[in-house]
Amino acid sequence: MAIVDPNMPYDVVIVGGGPAGLSAALALGRARKQVLLCDSGPRRNQRAAHLHNFVTRDGTPPEEFRQIARQQLARYPNVKVRDLRIESISGAKGAFTLRAGQEALEARRIILCVGMIDEPPPIEGFQELWGHAVFQCPYCHGWEAKERPWGYLARDSAMLHFAIMLRGWSKEVTVFTGGAFELPPHDRADLEEAGVRVETAAVARLMHQGLSLQGVALSDGRSVACEALFIHPAQRHVEVIAALGLSLDQDGLVKVDPMTRETSIPGVYAAGDLCTRAQGAMFAAAAGIHAAGMVNHELTAALVKEGLL
Ligand SMILES: Cc1cc2nc3c(=O)[nH]c(=O)nc-3n(C[C@H](O)[C@H](O)[C@H](O)COP(=O)(O)OP(=O)(O)OC[C@H]3O[C@@H](n4cnc5c(N)ncnc54)[C@H](O)[C@@H]3O)c2cc1C
Repeated sequence: MAIVDPNMPYDVVIVGGGPAGLSAALALGRARKQVLLCDSGPRRNQRAAHLHNFVTRDGTPPEEFRQIARQQLARYPNVKVRDLRIESISGAKGAFTLRAGQEALEARRIILCVGMIDEPPPIEGFQELWGHAVFQCPYCHGWEAKERPWGYLARDSAMLHFAIMLRGWSKEVTVFTGGAFELPPHDRADLEEAGVRVETAAVARLMHQGLSLQGVALSDGRSVACEALFIHPAQRHVEVIAALGLSLDQDGLVKVDPMTRETSIPGVYAAGDLCTRAQGAMFAAAAGIHAAGMVNHELTAALVKEGLL
């Protein structure tokens, strides 16, 4: 039985059906809200064969992860899931309009869970190997490549300590700066002390056979053995986020209130990769349920006040 007039707009439209959006939909479904989850694909980890480091789902193919979540959502008649790309969002708290092609969808509240788009560097071999031998996260894919020669392709000096952490999985770690920045002497000393090799020459290409990385070829003609390469690639927001004009933090991520996960636009909440550098499926799912709980709390009070509950 519907808990609000069926002619009324959705209580909440969730934009994005990755771990954050699916988790938000589950919580709001169980809280008896009228929910629409829209997902346009592709998912961020679509190049990865398996999802790791998500308790009870370690080793699950990412597509299967999403299918299980959608099957579980199907138990809740008040939750609709559609393969739909949201192109624009207008309106204000209580009466938002989301456009998808010719369709206009109306909602009282919105949760943005659209993830981020990775921008791969223009290095030959990178695209093919992304998600197979080139990764963002050692917790996700390090175990399978442990004790092999590893590399970290650093884009600036801010994350050089990351290479020292990689030593937990491999004794042979090389940092490639690609000549992109000056290596601060104290960082060089820390890396050397940790047994991490440093290569400052530009990276010419990734040497691979099929999806197996073999080494990193440098512009000066040398090459370094490397079977797993880590990188934090540049990222950009999907168009609908860029168009909304939300407040962003110093890293360009969507700013949310830490308690409520509300963005700078009242009634619009956000969860998942678009808000954080801690980008992992479990983090995203947790943020999704957090946003859902906060939306539900606030919206329920509003519905009661309006006499709709
Ligand atoms: C190669 C790779 C491997 C990874 N492996 C792991 C791993 O093993 N374990 C782990 O914990 N993490 C892993 N991650 C990180 C993990 O995938 C992300 O942290 C997680 O998917 C973020 O979830 P999310 O819900 O925020 O965004 P996403 O999973 O990116 O989902 C966002 C969804 O929103 C959709 N969308 C975007 N714009 C719109 C729109 N306008 N309208 C409708 N839908 C839209 C997208 O198509 C996408 O389906 C990996 C990442 C990469 C890149």
